[in-house]
Amino acid sequence: MFLESEIKKAKELVINAGKISAFTGAGISVDSGIPDFRSEGGLWKRFDPLEHATRESFMRDPTKFWTMGKELAETIVKAKPNDAHLALARLEEQGKLTGVITLNIDNLQQSAGSKRVIELHGNYLCAHCIECNEEYFGRAVHESVAKGEIPPKCEKCGGILKSDAILFGEPLPHEPMANAIELCRDTDLMIVIGTSLTVYPAAFLPQLAKNAGAKIIVINLEGTNKDDVADIVLRGRATDIVPMITDF
Ligand code: ZN
Repeated sequence: MFLESEIKKAKELVINAGKISAFTGAGISVDSGIPDFRSEGGLWKRFDPLEHATRESFMRDPTKFWTMGKELAETIVKAKPNDAHLALARLEEQGKLTGVITLNIDNLQQSAGSKRVIELHGNYLCAHCIECNEEYFGRAVHESVAKGEIPPKCEKCGGILKSDAILFGEPLPHEPMANAIELCRDTDLMIVIGTSLTVYPAAFLPQLAKNAGAKIIVINLEGTNKDDVADIVLRGRATDIVPMITDF
């Protein structure tokens, strides 16, 4: 249970902040029907990431990635943004929120209407041909995977398609990381939602914002590695708490 007074304090921080940013992880999308990959019953409990989701394993045998990808797509393609995603999008529309940094690959924050979303782990709905670099975005690739076209091929050259979600062993993309750092240095309040902040270098970002003078609110079901950095820690579901502290 969370304290009503903490909610009130968090809401005051939101009201008083000029520039707000958010940093989101798997926990914000759980209520949209996308289980945390690392959780019990999550993707990585059923598919060994070393075998299905490293750069080496993809280059060796893309069939393995896309076999896992078929299941992932079934979840992601039909997921809809929830009240937490929508609350952040509203906050941006009001001119309070200047950007969302996300570890998620599900495109839900954009579907909610957010304009500035910095994706540190890429976007699963986006794919590129590994031969000619043709870009594919949306459901079409996943629909053909669902029909059994594994691995999916490029319509132009027949090359194999690779999802833009980053694989284990791949570096975080340079530009989003640079944009995330810039956002952290220019924010009055960072709301960290649904991540235990265990994966570096991303886990370092709230600390960076704090060092630059920002207040930090952490919203998560469980304890995180950065609770000590937070000014306010709120235990609970993102879909309950985010609308509560941003609705005014
Ligand atoms: Zn191609």
